[in-house]
Amino acid sequence: MTSCYLTIDDSPSPYTDAMIDFLDERKIQALLFVRGDMIEQYGMDSLIRAVKHGHIIGNHSYSHPRFGDLSYDESIAEIEKTDAFINDVYAYANMKRTGYYFRFPYLDRGDGNPAERHFDNVVDANINDDPRIIKIQNYLHDKGYVQPFDQCTHPYYQNASIKNAADCLMTYSSFDWMMTDRHKGKWDYKTIDDLKTKIDYSDMKDHKGNVLIFHDQDETFETFKSLIDHMIVKGYTFLSFR
Ligand SMILES: [Zn+2]
Repeated sequence: MTSCYLTIDDSPSPYTDAMIDFLDERKIQALLFVRGDMIEQYGMDSLIRAVKHGHIIGNHSYSHPRFGDLSYDESIAEIEKTDAFINDVYAYANMKRTGYYFRFPYLDRGDGNPAERHFDNVVDANINDDPRIIKIQNYLHDKGYVQPFDQCTHPYYQNASIKNAADCLMTYSSFDWMMTDRHKGKWDYKTIDDLKTKIDYSDMKDHKGNVLIFHDQDETFETFKSLIDHMIVKGYTFLSFR
């Protein structure tokens, strides 16, 4: 049975409540990586509700920058600002924060090079070799940031530098963002059916605990629902986070 962890980036949006309703109906738990600036724009009510419904909140920076463009101090400020919001979410929900999870915007971990590019070569991938990356990784490790993907058997997670990273990486990108107006038609996957086919031909069925990335945006909500339901029909199951 193909199992997955569902992670969703860029929350909250005006669609977060509907997204949570959709997942609750299907008994799927999500890890929502939130942006501080989006919390300021849309408020944190939908995130408080998500936590109360058993979902988990992770940190996706304050303003969604490429960390390769930031100084170390700017990087830490981006993380800490949103961390304070997340503490507020759990406090208002009157619930204990279960853990510390961080995902870099664009998977740029501080050297200006998205980690995805290293993923083509799993064996040789050494994604922690840049001193800028190591410095931020050490900060995250010290603060208790981990990846909650214990059951992941994907080859990426056999690689120590991926498996032991303090930030949350992934094994499968839904490419849901290719369906937004800004991107639509400009990439290999032009329709939702194309993205379903991508799922069908992926290596996910060979592994357990695949780590999926979706997005919480108005323009990707229909794609999100279609792809999740497609996966359910195809027999995929969704794991809970530890
Ligand atoms: Zn993002």
